[in-house]
Amino acid sequence: MSRRVLLLPGDGIGPDIVAEARKLLTALADDHGLDLSLDEGLMGGAAVDATGVPLPDETLAQARASDGVLMGAVGGPAWDGLERAQRPETGLLNIRRELGLFGNLRPAMLYPQLAEASALRPDVVAGLDLMIVRELTGGLYFGEPRGVETLPDGRQRGWNTMAYDSAEIERIGRLAFEASQRRNGQLCSVDKANVLEVSALWREVMNGLATEYSDVTLSHMYVDNAAMQLVRAPRQFDVMVTTNLFGDILSDCAAMLTGSIGMLPSAALDESGRGLYEPVHGSAPDIAGQDKANPLATMLSVAMMLRYSLDAGELADRVEAAVGSVLASGQRTADIHTEDTRLVGTAAMGDAVVAALGAT
Ligand code: NAD
Repeated sequence: MSRRVLLLPGDGIGPDIVAEARKLLTALADDHGLDLSLDEGLMGGAAVDATGVPLPDETLAQARASDGVLMGAVGGPAWDGLERAQRPETGLLNIRRELGLFGNLRPAMLYPQLAEASALRPDVVAGLDLMIVRELTGGLYFGEPRGVETLPDGRQRGWNTMAYDSAEIERIGRLAFEASQRRNGQLCSVDKANVLEVSALWREVMNGLATEYSDVTLSHMYVDNAAMQLVRAPRQFDVMVTTNLFGDILSDCAAMLTGSIGMLPSAALDESGRGLYEPVHGSAPDIAGQDKANPLATMLSVAMMLRYSLDAGELADRVEAAVGSVLASGQRTADIHTEDTRLVGTAAMGDAVVAALGAT
């Protein structure tokens, strides 16, 4: 069955890295049996410039008609001064909400060849392989009421609302328990149940779910301790599940354990497994258009899309193996380059992964 994939290059290095993902998908279609149709759309600052809004209706319609959407990155200084509705980040929040992408899978894996790139000692991080499951469409980032008001005495007051209902918690909980079943059966739920009522409900619902997943061991951790444990002994974790806000922060922390933000893919899934895939890094305006960006996070996002939305797990394994073999051959973009390795640009790195596909 032919699968439809939408590419949204976005801003900054987005077009540089999505070009490499296109190369990879085209090679998989031409030489490795993937039945695919590729489309491209506008998103973020590029969409603001062309249409006045960061998520045009046409892009949303294209995304709804696709099995998987691959995004580069959005945002940059050119659009920082715009009002909130026009900001590129608003387009990203809106596409997640409109597509019902409630579950964010963020793996943090340290390739053995890059153990020296981590800011932590290799003996602490070597072999790291964890997955953070972050709730993506609720919690503090979407809760109402929200706003800024001027008080009678002239002071300003800003507020947001952190709210989850039990159905929202159950939905993300099930995704996390199922992810744990496919991995090592260890799930750590992260909350702040000692202080927040919403977290106490979160914990209660997770405990209820645990009775249905007897092959998964559920533990709980407060978010402040989880942040500490992630840098103290990160290999204790297999799958972590948490709210939108806590997951945003913890997944960036986990990303840095791996040494380079340029290596990490992510997936945002709806209830039927359709998804938006993107590298976890931003649009890196400082290196945009200079053939310097690391395309591997984006190419590994393609692997996640193959596995979770395109029913092509075997090809996903091959892409991941190809990335491993390119790293083993010593080729590195600037962000992961060391003295004893060979510096290559974005396009050469993409070519090397495509070439390695044939050999895996
Ligand atoms: P960033 O991730 O874009 O960059 C941080 C640092 O990492 C920079 O030095 C950059 O050069 C480097 N870097 C990032 N990706 C890289 C890659 N693939 N290869 C090599 N080096 C890489 O974060 P930032 O500077 O805080 O944000 C820049 C813009 O990106 C802002 O407008 C921000 O709003 C936006 N942003 C977008 C997303 C998204 O699209 N999902 C996420 C985060 C930030």
